[in-house]
Amino acid sequence: MYNPSSLKAEEFICHEEIMSTLDFAHQHKNDAALIDEIISKAKECKGLSHREALVLLDCDIPEKNQEIFKLAEDIKKQFYGNRIVLFAPLYLSNYCVNGCLYCPYHAKNKHILRKKLTQDEIRQEVIALQDMGHKRLAIEAGEDPVNNPIEYILESIKTIYSIKHKNGAIRRVNVNIAATSVENYRKLKEAGIGTYILFQETYHKESYEKLHPSGPKHNYAYHTEAMDRAMDGGIDDVGLGVLFGLETYRYELAGLLMHAEHLEAVHGVGPHTISVPRVKHADDIDPSAFDNGIDDDVFAKIIAVIRLSVPYTGMIISTRETPQCREKVIHYGISQISGGSKTSVGGYAVPEDEELKSEQFDVSDHRTLDEVVNWLMKLGYVPSFCTACYREGRTGDRFMALCKNKQIHNCCLPNALMTLKEYLMDYASPDIKKVGESLIQSELNHISKDKVRDIVKDNLVKIENGQRDFRF
Ligand code: SF4
Ligand code: SF4
Repeated sequence: MYNPSSLKAEEFICHEEIMSTLDFAHQHKNDAALIDEIISKAKECKGLSHREALVLLDCDIPEKNQEIFKLAEDIKKQFYGNRIVLFAPLYLSNYCVNGCLYCPYHAKNKHILRKKLTQDEIRQEVIALQDMGHKRLAIEAGEDPVNNPIEYILESIKTIYSIKHKNGAIRRVNVNIAATSVENYRKLKEAGIGTYILFQETYHKESYEKLHPSGPKHNYAYHTEAMDRAMDGGIDDVGLGVLFGLETYRYELAGLLMHAEHLEAVHGVGPHTISVPRVKHADDIDPSAFDNGIDDDVFAKIIAVIRLSVPYTGMIISTRETPQCREKVIHYGISQISGGSKTSVGGYAVPEDEELKSEQFDVSDHRTLDEVVNWLMKLGYVPSFCTACYREGRTGDRFMALCKNKQIHNCCLPNALMTLKEYLMDYASPDIKKVGESLIQSELNHISKDKVRDIVKDNLVKIENGQRDFRF
């Protein structure tokens, strides 16, 4: 029944295969020989199967667990160096016809403020985001064919890309909207989106149906097969994710990795990113109502195991997590984080009224983007505002090939330094500018090719003199 190449949700996310995987992992959690074998395979950086990953997730031997964390850090360094890409979410509308039990935007919530940004309001939000220094956005909207039809999303994307305020520009718009048709995915592709992101929420079909009692999202197969339609519509960078806390984390990780195996098997390209959100408190939502919450230690282990299983897939952590938690897990494989985020509809240009809130979840990291940039630099990371790949046509299998043979490094570091320089020139506070300038000087030495280093040095001077948007 389990068939990663099938186009049927219940065959590529096969419940029986997941249950037998969980059983196998449980039986082998103290099997040092097998765990060693899997760790050795992971060292080759070619990834792990869902079954191998689950054995590592369950591994109960402390020294082996230390090896797993250490290897996750090594693999992260090999593929992503010390760079972290920054982005912000932009909520366009919280009108939604679905009944998701974990989200305050569910249709039956009558006391949350419902809002939909006009194009003019989007303009104000984007200017505020540009003035913070952001270059990369993830747009979010509830599912509502009347209030948020695809035409509204497309018009909003066009508006976002059109705004050039001072030296600002949004250069990559990733899109997180409900599962839709091939035709609509094609329209999104034509609008120039970066990644199409859709969280599965849970891979457990029975739980999925209970958690989504009403609305189009109730249809498990339509939702689970969305990435195949997106790829048929020409979108070759897709982002997966589950909402940890809804079902058992073991089940979710197995499902998530099976989904990645399915995309590889059918389209020849694995997921571009994986997000790891956890259920959060929000208006009308009490996270303790879901009994599968995970603590920070398990969360860190999940991140490390994902890093070993899909080394070439970016991993995203949002401001749902506290600064302390972000600091704990970032080393194990995170490549992108959000900063200075608002999870309300509007709120960047004009702060929301305390009494009339429209946010999707409570943010746990309230630092400004400048503070996040400073924190990353203190931890030894290079904050990057790079958006180069999709603009250079490096998407889908082309991107993956460069990523798998680690050649993407040759672009990432130079782009990180040039976009950080833009940030320092245009938005950073004086202290942070000083720290950033010296970081750029020391990181220049890590560019291995003399010719590339010379071009970057030249471009850094041009950025000093007012030019913008250089990229490899
Ligand atoms: S999770 Fe998405 S689809 Fe579900 S209620 Fe919230 S906005 Fe709507
Ligand atoms: S060069 Fe490509 S992979 Fe590297 S940071 Fe930029 S967009 Fe991401």
